[in-house]
Amino acid sequence: MYKEIKAELDQANVTLVAVSKMKPISMIQEMYEQGQRIFGENRVQELVEKHEKMPKDIKWHMIGHLQSKKVKSIIPFISMIHSVDSIKLLKKINKEAAHAGRIVDVLIQFHVADEETKYGFTHAEIDEVIKTLAECGNVRARGIMGMATFTDDQVQVSTEFASLKNRYETMKTQGSLPDTFDTVSMGMSGDYKLAISEGSTMVRIGSLLFGKR
Ligand SMILES: *Cc1c(COP(=O)(O)O)cnc(C)c1O
Repeated sequence: MYKEIKAELDQANVTLVAVSKMKPISMIQEMYEQGQRIFGENRVQELVEKHEKMPKDIKWHMIGHLQSKKVKSIIPFISMIHSVDSIKLLKKINKEAAHAGRIVDVLIQFHVADEETKYGFTHAEIDEVIKTLAECGNVRARGIMGMATFTDDQVQVSTEFASLKNRYETMKTQGSLPDTFDTVSMGMSGDYKLAISEGSTMVRIGSLLFGKR
């Protein structure tokens, strides 16, 4: 399955984050041996443990809701944080990155789904996010991330992805953001094809690659 999906994404010029949450080291190792280097996790503890055990050329992406008090433990090695969903968290990442002497790549998470359970900024908060980013010298804004509603309604899912893409474009045109603001992280196992047709540049795929959790 990995080879097929990877080939499909390469063809579309889309980056694959292999979501390995709840999956054992052995399975990650197997995919690593097939050439995969970017893995996504949603829990700090699990992320730290897997980072310790796995080859050091893996790029670990934090994709889950991150509590400010847990930022410090991932800062030394994290490659990208997709889930920046509050000003407080953004400032905390900047502060810890400065302490560690790093510049950390982040994505701004937006809320577009129907579900209350999903995190992220609203469109109205874009100005404040841009202003804060300008003050945060130790984070590099790489783009945005979001999740569509979990539904079979393809029209709704496409509409939500389109609105995420729109927020990306809004930020890019309004903000004094770097040229490296180039990433739209949207699409999971069930909806990545729709996400790509709406302009995704990075998909986060778990169960389709590793099996059900
Ligand atoms: C678990 C998870 C994914 C992957 O979900 P699948 O449906 O297994 O592909 C993607 N993004 C986030 C934020 C997740 O928590």
